[in-house]
Amino acid sequence: MITREERLKESVRNIPDFPIPGIQFKDVTTLFKDAECLQILSDIMYEKYKDKGITKVVGIESRGFIMGPILATRLNTGFIPIRKPGKLPADTIEEVYNKEYGTDAIQIHKDALSEDDVVLLHDDLLATGGTMLAACNLVNKLKPKKVYVNFIIELADLNGKELFDKDIEVETILSM
Ligand code: AMP
Repeated sequence: MITREERLKESVRNIPDFPIPGIQFKDVTTLFKDAECLQILSDIMYEKYKDKGITKVVGIESRGFIMGPILATRLNTGFIPIRKPGKLPADTIEEVYNKEYGTDAIQIHKDALSEDDVVLLHDDLLATGGTMLAACNLVNKLKPKKVYVNFIIELADLNGKELFDKDIEVETILSM
């Protein structure tokens, strides 16, 4: 008998040298394609957060837009998108962050969260952690009560978790 996590790990497809040489790309579309895996993942994530008083799930463009809304419907919360600049139609706030080459930016609607919200921030994969740290900083500008951070996959060798303050709970389902 294999564990639920082993079943999920087996469903993730590894693509060597994508999008550039040297990167082992973890393709979650093969997990999402499998009905049983999608259900298992949804169950595991729901079980982790069902008693945390979450009021909003916030997903990062674009692969955080798949499990984010699934989780939001299960937790009976709203869903909020964080997007690249120029995509959100109403007033936004922005966070600029450093990438390996140059800078990048992400935005959220100014009125997306209130000070009463308990936020679950979600993305598919934790590599260096730079994107999620920027998302945490962005969300914290709107002063929610508490922020939880969640990924499906963590690339363990990169130690991305260490970027985050100790008071933020960072959870990953699969370590690869
Ligand atoms: P980082 O900011 O370094 O933690 O990068 C995280 C973002 O890049 C996530 O949105 C991932 O979807 C994507 N990403 C980085 N490395 C990989 C990888 N090896 N396989 C799949 N996605 C990746």
